[in-house]
Parts: sequence; structure tokens; C-alpha cells
Amino acid sequence: MINVANLTIEAIREALAARRFSAVELATEALRFAEAENPKTNAYLHFCTERALAAARTVDDRIARGEDPGVLGGVPVAVKDVIVTRGVRTTCGSRLLEHYIPPYDATAVQRVEAAGGVIIGKTNCDEFAMGSSNENSAFGPVRNPVAPDRVPGGSSGGSAAAVAQGTAVVALGSDTGGSVRQPASFCGVVGVTPTYGRVSRYGLTAFASSLDHIGPFARTVKDSATLLGVIAGRDPCDSTSAPVPVPDYAAALDRNVKGLKLGLPREYLNDLTSESGDLIHRGVDTLRSLGCEVREISLPNTDYAVACYYIIATAEASSNLARYDGVRYTFRSGHSETLADMYRNTRGEGFGAECKRRIMLGTYVLSAGYYDAYYLKAQKVRALIARDFQEAFQQVDAIVAPVSPFPAFKLGEKLDDPLEMYLSDIYTITGDLAGIPCMSVPCGKTADGLPVGMQILTRHFDETTMFRLADAYEHTHN
Ligand code: GLN
Repeated sequence: MINVANLTIEAIREALAARRFSAVELATEALRFAEAENPKTNAYLHFCTERALAAARTVDDRIARGEDPGVLGGVPVAVKDVIVTRGVRTTCGSRLLEHYIPPYDATAVQRVEAAGGVIIGKTNCDEFAMGSSNENSAFGPVRNPVAPDRVPGGSSGGSAAAVAQGTAVVALGSDTGGSVRQPASFCGVVGVTPTYGRVSRYGLTAFASSLDHIGPFARTVKDSATLLGVIAGRDPCDSTSAPVPVPDYAAALDRNVKGLKLGLPREYLNDLTSESGDLIHRGVDTLRSLGCEVREISLPNTDYAVACYYIIATAEASSNLARYDGVRYTFRSGHSETLADMYRNTRGEGFGAECKRRIMLGTYVLSAGYYDAYYLKAQKVRALIARDFQEAFQQVDAIVAPVSPFPAFKLGEKLDDPLEMYLSDIYTITGDLAGIPCMSVPCGKTADGLPVGMQILTRHFDETTMFRLADAYEHTHN
């Protein structure tokens, strides 16, 4: 009997090589388990049975021929439903795309499959990745596998829940303001937001293009590093993907972090008196015991981050979502007299409340007269926030911070107060605004058994230091 929930990439590699099970047997069991578990969490929106079995057969054929099955050979992977998959429905959690079948694969998806990965299903998410709790999905919320009356975080809640419940070994999510790290923290798994430009956005449905990243989820730091290594690197289909060589992240995990300089941002930790704060401080103590030098630092423009993010992200979203007009993508309202009515009715019926709120806010901050006062000013503040990090990284090699002010909250708890929901992202959006790599690594549980994640941030393109720290911490802490 294969237990998918206990597997790592390395364990799968060994088991396939030793012929303990085949890739097809593993894919079959992963699909069975995921479908059986799904009613508990609603983590998956649809499964790709045929595609998964075909990918698994390719892996088995390669092994039978004595070839290398690839870095992800046979590994069951879940993919957030904002990342397009050729021939497999990609809904973005929206009624507007309920029946949309993309004609191409995202580059990250192509690379996962080229490395032998087996994509078993597409995961639930907030509509167009807008949200912090997964309650904005048109297809129902996701439940946190650790505590089913609570949210898994968002917007990549389905991917986090799939990895936490063990139905996928790794998953892809997307992060614009915290949507990989925050659900990773809420579900007790590892979540990585790479440097902006590290991973191609080709095939990632655009929310706020200057902030969007594809990022891995895994149960171990090493698996997250391996998956990032597979999907990272320049792609001619995305002009913002960086021509920077990709190191072998997994091979760099040496468990020796002695002498690394860590910064604790005063602005993030001073007010954090909750249990989450205590767990972060304990995490920092562990890193200190491993020989890291810890000092307090300041990121003085932190206070402006939430306001700055919600201007830039909504401005870009209002433009990106303009394409859903009832003409080019599947959903069209059925009862319109004129073309203008058709646009209005399609968008009125197709978008959920959060998307509409953001389109209105974004259109407003971009409109003549307000552009300078809001959008342009937010861009200047973004530059200041990025400069804060640059200056901090002249003194330290990495920054350690909380991911979220609180652990997973109850379903419905913050639904009526969008502003309160936006504040969930207070510690994660700065990393996206600066474009630096950041990740969440589990650092313990509250007295109620709710997972808490610790955030590690490093310099542009220095994912290696981030992974080395997280891996050393994971092996000391667990
Ligand atoms: N929760 C944030 C938002 O609603 C972040 C979303 C994301 O990272 N995709 O915008």
C-alpha cells in the first residue's frame, strides 16, 4: 500500500528505482486518495486523470529503458487553477471561466512535466487570486485540513491544503501579495515566493503583473527547493523572466549556517505579542543556537505597505481583468439588447464581489485627476519600500519575520470586513513589492494546534541562502 502523504521527492525516486512501485501505481493511488479526501476540504476543483496516467506511463517507460526519469519522476503535483493547462479546464475560481479550456500550457507546467512530474489536479483558489482565505472562490471555500472549521489561507488555499492533507507531494501556487506564504503558514507546510522574474509567468493568469509570482508548496524545504529548481530560469515567452543562472538549490543545503547575519525588523515584531509572535521568537532562538548572528533592523516604510499594495495591485487588476468581456472567454450573459449591455451584464454576473471591488478601486486610482495622487504616489512608496530592504541587506544576509499576525481564522470570520482581511497580508506584501525571495517555513503550533509559519527573506536571486537557513532550521526544530 502506497502512502502518498508520507512521500518526498527523494523517497519516490528511490522507490521507483528499486521497483517497489511503478509511477502508474503511484499516480493511481494519488488520484484515488485525492478524490476520496476532497469532500473534506474542497481543495481540488478538478482532476486530470488521463493526463496524470499518461505522464506516469512516460516515467515508467523511461525507467524500463534504463533512462533517468527526471528530477520529479513520478511525483504527484497539484497546480493552482490560475495556471493554465492545455486541454484541462482552468477556471481561476471564477464563474467567468467555468468552462474555459486553455489551448496551451504554462511554462512552469511544461517544465514540471518535462522533469517527470505527474499533475493530478487543479486546485481551488480565490477568484483570480484575490483574497486571503479562499472564501472568494466561485466554487466554494476550501477547508483547512488541520482544522476544518477554519480557512486554509488564500489565495492559493487549495494548493496548500492538498500538500498538507498529503494528496499531492508538492504543488504550484501563485503569490502577488502573500498568497503562497500565508496559506503555507496556515496549513503548516513550506511555501516559497521566488525573486520576481525567477520563474516565468507565461500561462499564469494575470492579476497584478508587476507583483505576480508562481511559487512552490511542499512538506519539506528540500522538496520546495527541488521544485523551484525545475521551474526557474529564463523563458523567451516571458520578457520579465530573468536571464540569471539557476543554482542547484537542493544540493546547496549544507546545514551550516554559522556566521550568517540575520535581521529582525522592529516594525514587524514590536507589536506582535500573540502566540504567533512567541513562536517566531523561539524560531529565532533556534537559528541563533545554530550560530547565526541576530540583530534588530528597521524597515521604516513598512507602515505604508498595505495602502501602497492595494493601490498598485488593484490598478493592475482593473486593467488585466478588462479582457473578460463576454466575447473572448467562455461566459456570456444570455439576455442583452446592446453590445454595451452585453459587456455590463457579463461582467456583472460573472465577477464576484471582491473582483468588482478591486476593478472599481483600480479604475478610480488610474483615472485622470487621481492617477498622480494615488497610483504615481504608490509607485514612489513602492520604491522606498524596496530601498528599505536594499539598505537592510547591506547589514544582514537574511531577514526573519512573521508571515501573518494570526493563525488560520474561522470560515466566515472576516468575510464582512474586507479591510480586516487585507490586513492579513501586512507582513507578506512588502516582499512582493520589493520583488525579493521570501518563504514560509513551519515553526510550531499554537496551544489550539494551529500551525504558524516563520518568514525568511533574502536578497534578489539569493534563494540559496533562504533555503539553507530554512532547511537548517527545519532539521533542528523538528
Ligand atoms: N491576499 C492578497 C490579495 O488579496 C494577496 C493575493 C495574492 O497574493 N494573490 O490581494
